[in-house]
Amino acid sequence: PTTLTDELGIALGNLADAATGTITPTLRLGVTGLSRAGKTIFITALIHNLLTGARLPGFVPMAEGRLIGARLAEHPDNATPRFAYENHLAALTGSPPVWPESTRRISQLRLTLRYQSNNWLKAQFGTQTLNLDIVDYPGEWLLDLPLLTKTYAEWSAEALALARRPAREAEAKPFLDALASLDPSREADDVTAETLAAAFTQYLRASKGDARALSTLPPGRFLMPGDLEGSPALTFAPLPDPVSTLRHSSLYAMLERRYEAYKSVVVRPFFRDHFARLDRQIVLVDALRALNAGPEAVADLETALTAVLSCFRQGTSNPISRLLTRRIDKILFAATKADLLHHTSHTRLEAILNRLVASAARRAHFSGTETRPLAIAAIRATREGAIKDNGETLHTIIGTPEEGQRLGDTVYDGKTEIALFPGDLPENPDSLFKTHESTPQLNFLRFLPPKILSPSQTGDPVFPHIRLDRALDFLIGDKMQ
Ligand code: GDP
Repeated sequence: PTTLTDELGIALGNLADAATGTITPTLRLGVTGLSRAGKTIFITALIHNLLTGARLPGFVPMAEGRLIGARLAEHPDNATPRFAYENHLAALTGSPPVWPESTRRISQLRLTLRYQSNNWLKAQFGTQTLNLDIVDYPGEWLLDLPLLTKTYAEWSAEALALARRPAREAEAKPFLDALASLDPSREADDVTAETLAAAFTQYLRASKGDARALSTLPPGRFLMPGDLEGSPALTFAPLPDPVSTLRHSSLYAMLERRYEAYKSVVVRPFFRDHFARLDRQIVLVDALRALNAGPEAVADLETALTAVLSCFRQGTSNPISRLLTRRIDKILFAATKADLLHHTSHTRLEAILNRLVASAARRAHFSGTETRPLAIAAIRATREGAIKDNGETLHTIIGTPEEGQRLGDTVYDGKTEIALFPGDLPENPDSLFKTHESTPQLNFLRFLPPKILSPSQTGDPVFPHIRLDRALDFLIGDKMQ
């Protein structure tokens, strides 16, 4: 059993650590993006590259030979689940390799990096250590920020107006039908609240399904419930303004209380305990899926990104500025899955990404915050090739489409490797946002993960990637000088 002296010993030990200045600097890196943007793959690949000492020429501390090594550190935070790195890696290195399960909730993992400083004075003190805390969280959760400043009545009015827009008619009908036969001033009961919440959730999820890819609407947890699946905090829905004055026991009053509880128990703690503590951020964007779905989906992705990015805005209009004790000084915007294009199109993909975040950036004054767009593939599933077509050379990508993927009349079986010409991205990104312009024919398929190619120095397999090293350098390179 531990005695008081043991306890004191531990406490003194901690003090001694602090006294000799051995407290390790920590950098908290947020990784976010809407569902299936590529967060899980990005984090898994990043950790794997660092742990195996893979060659990362674009990561300056490594290129200069100053990175000594990385290891997984003890999980620093009892209240946050650990990022399931080992499980994800096992999926990707299995036979056959499969893509791992995507992000559904917040998780975190700490890496400890040892390096040699290139600052002469610092280098005199021996090697340096940096804790890198990687925090993975659904971008959908950021959509909730505006709720903090809205009453239930205000939010209800907006949500109902959106549900009644023609573009959402099909998805919203069952929910609106359920509302139509309901008097908000009736006596509250749990079954009605649950039925209504379920219909509302169904509508939100349906409008962002793969085919429609309409913009994502709050509440974020209705789309990505994390550990709150089925909890009472999520059993509310918008209601029209009641005509008569309301009793405390009415359905309206009950849902209003739940909405307020959602704000105070779910939304505020997330921003306060996690978001506000980040130092750096990468926002992953799957632009190609939206391009595949057409101009409406592209415009909607822009709207969703603007909402997501407004959380990073500084200033008094932002309800979380008050919660912020430090601020994010660098944000990387990464267009993911760049391996679905030939490298000659990557500059255009970056231009599209820039255009997608432009209005957010204009409005958001990322003052003092450095931002950059980058086209990346955290795990490259294709190689490049070329085919001759009528004397013209077409740049292709080569890989194995997932089973059930289709192109025209062809349905792939998940075993056959193909060479695909994905199409040309337009030179001017504006044309992608306009419904009347003839949009280019683009073909983006989902490919199986690569069979692992080359062993690294340590003998571990490494995944091929595109510019993952440059992303890492932008995000943490300057902290390792
Ligand atoms: P998230 O965690 O929801 O943001 O998304 P994931 O990281 O799970 O990625 C979703 C899916 O996108 C994966 O299952 C892969 O099919 C695909 N994907 C992610 N990253 C890449 C990439 O770098 N290249 C390719 N070709 N596909 C990717």
